[in-house]
Amino acid sequence: MFVKEECAGRKQIKGKKKVYYISAEFLIGKLLSNNLINLGIYDALKTDLAAEGKDIAKIEEREAEPSLGNGGLGRLAACFIDSIATLGLPGAGIGLNYHYGLFRQVFRRRMQNAEKDSWINENSWLNKTDTTFNVYFGKKKVVSRLYDIDVTGYENGINKLHLFDLESVDEKLVKSGIDFDKKKIDKNLTLFLYPDDSDEAGRILRVYQQYFMVSSGAQLIIKEMKENGYDLHKLDKHAVIQINDTHPSMVIPELIRILTEEEGFTMDEAIKLVTKTCAYTNHTILAEALEKWPMKYLKKAVPQLIPIIEELNYRVIKKYPNKKEVWIIDDDNRVHMAHMDIHYGMSVNGVAALHTEILKNTELNAFYRIYPKKFNNKTNGITFRRWLLSCNPELAALIDEAIGTGYKKNAFELKKLELFAKDKKFLKEVEDIKREKKLQLCEYIKKKEKTVIDPDSIFDIQIKRMHEYKRQQMNALYIIHKYLEIRSGKLPKRPITFIFGAKAAPAYRIAQDIIHLLLVLADIINNDPKVNRYIKVVFVENYNVSYAEKLIPACDISEQISLASQEASGTGNMKFMLNGAVTLGTDDGANVEIHELVGDDNIFIFGKKSDEVLKLRENWNAKYDAKKIYESDPVIKEAVDFIISKETLAKGNKTALTRLYNEIVGKDWFMGLLDLKAYIKMKDKAFAAYENRNAWRRMMLINIANAGFFSSDRTIEEYNRDIWKLK
Ligand SMILES: *Cc1c(COP(=O)(O)O)cnc(C)c1O
Repeated sequence: MFVKEECAGRKQIKGKKKVYYISAEFLIGKLLSNNLINLGIYDALKTDLAAEGKDIAKIEEREAEPSLGNGGLGRLAACFIDSIATLGLPGAGIGLNYHYGLFRQVFRRRMQNAEKDSWINENSWLNKTDTTFNVYFGKKKVVSRLYDIDVTGYENGINKLHLFDLESVDEKLVKSGIDFDKKKIDKNLTLFLYPDDSDEAGRILRVYQQYFMVSSGAQLIIKEMKENGYDLHKLDKHAVIQINDTHPSMVIPELIRILTEEEGFTMDEAIKLVTKTCAYTNHTILAEALEKWPMKYLKKAVPQLIPIIEELNYRVIKKYPNKKEVWIIDDDNRVHMAHMDIHYGMSVNGVAALHTEILKNTELNAFYRIYPKKFNNKTNGITFRRWLLSCNPELAALIDEAIGTGYKKNAFELKKLELFAKDKKFLKEVEDIKREKKLQLCEYIKKKEKTVIDPDSIFDIQIKRMHEYKRQQMNALYIIHKYLEIRSGKLPKRPITFIFGAKAAPAYRIAQDIIHLLLVLADIINNDPKVNRYIKVVFVENYNVSYAEKLIPACDISEQISLASQEASGTGNMKFMLNGAVTLGTDDGANVEIHELVGDDNIFIFGKKSDEVLKLRENWNAKYDAKKIYESDPVIKEAVDFIISKETLAKGNKTALTRLYNEIVGKDWFMGLLDLKAYIKMKDKAFAAYENRNAWRRMMLINIANAGFFSSDRTIEEYNRDIWKLK
């Protein structure tokens, strides 16, 4: 309450031009300590509370986490709005106020269960406003109400995160778990983030949600233009709309619709203006994640946009002879949302150097040839307020002492830490902090997961959404391999703790199966007295931002092992680096840039490169044969066979484990077997390197010192310089 009032009293950031960052997800995490840090009152308040015998950490613990995002994409949006405010840029986030956000993960019988997570209570950061808009689905009207969350800039003013909510939403619609009536649009629209979209009702609901968000957002933007007395014909001089992935793409036809139907614009004028105002960020090359909505769905949900989308498509196919590569509406009557963004936006950016190159040269090459100037790269970043100052105040204090506090405003100053690379006393202090964070994590894991882990073991951590392309299954095969080695008498020099955290989409079966396998392995290994002195496996329940803040500072080895070319950027990799973990990874996404920054000696890179992978995948059946690899290599075969061994089947579900086994041997779409041997070799090399304590501490330091590039302040400065041009 006190902090909310404090925010209300601070200066709102203003200016002639404003960025609207529109995103279906804002994974903001808890806000109390972050806001206190940004307002510059954290230390004072902590001291005051301590004087009254109160522990600020206990208060922080009680705040519910708003889980308004799935993973990296939503977390990126949260880091960005923090940096926009920190840099004093006028900007707002636009999204949806999901009442239950992402599901809460509960393990039962070594399987993931999804439960609803109600995060809204009288103490949450939402401010109800008087602003409402009518949103029409054809002739059907619903009312959208604006709720705001203050976004505090670090020692700067305040921006807003605008979250729209359905006025007639009905929480009673939710049955057990996360099941609800998907057809009652006027009651369910803002209940959940991305409801299960494995059936048609779920997918159509997603279209409804997206339109509800963009229509409310477009109306808000136009209202603000008018309130400021700006000429709508100069929209692009006062507003820029950054479209975060394709979920908000309908903002383009919606704005065109409003301008032509309600504001007297001609179609030509409206299209030209909107094209100058919107910019699109691509987050993935995974085909299944690139949205293509069947016209049938759009006709049902938003018939008023159909003539506009058809007009936009007509202009494209009339102009380009290679129309099949660049059309918006394809032969199967599906609307390619990304194509609409690229034709009718002024900028297209990828989120890491490698990713942008892949977009230009392969995935979106047809568009790159038409619009070379629209394409640009903006390597992702993370806010150092949350991912250093707040989650690792011990390390931040040590850095303050060593190089001063200038790095808090200019993260590149972290580079000065390299002066200490030979200072053994300082290096030991870096390690002492790592140990302290490991002890804190041990306590927390003991309390939460009821598992005791050894703070002197190596903490090897893979935390991120569960997905085949991220290859947690390859990590599982390593653990099996290690387990079998230990049973045969080959012991590691030092105990190792393998830690996982991940949610799987409720409809994604193989991802659920991988979670199951890891939970079964944890059970077998942690209860095997011959082995559990050497390795343990912990899969933490309900991985979220708050858990990440505890895990990351305690990590020794950061697992970033996606199949090269598949992870657009990753941001977990950056958080770990900043906190002194060393990356074990493939040359993928932003790992490539981490590799360049720290050099070969301070990272463990393995596996096939992205161009090799892309070539192999061009002609999948002819070139990749998982079964052949499996059959020809006894080490691989032994590890894979263990998935359906007597031991695992004694504790696990036969259907799930067999399905996973068949998937890996029969298809292995993300080529875990191809890289497994290289992975085992490099991982063992990393564990061996850990034994040279002084050299390892130096590696930690070099990683921290070079993390400055990954501040989201740098990323946002680039967005502003190249795309938004706010001031
Ligand atoms: C940073 C973050 C992610 C993204 O992790 P990646 O390893 O980049 O996929 C996902 N979830 C949470 C909670 C995060 O904090």
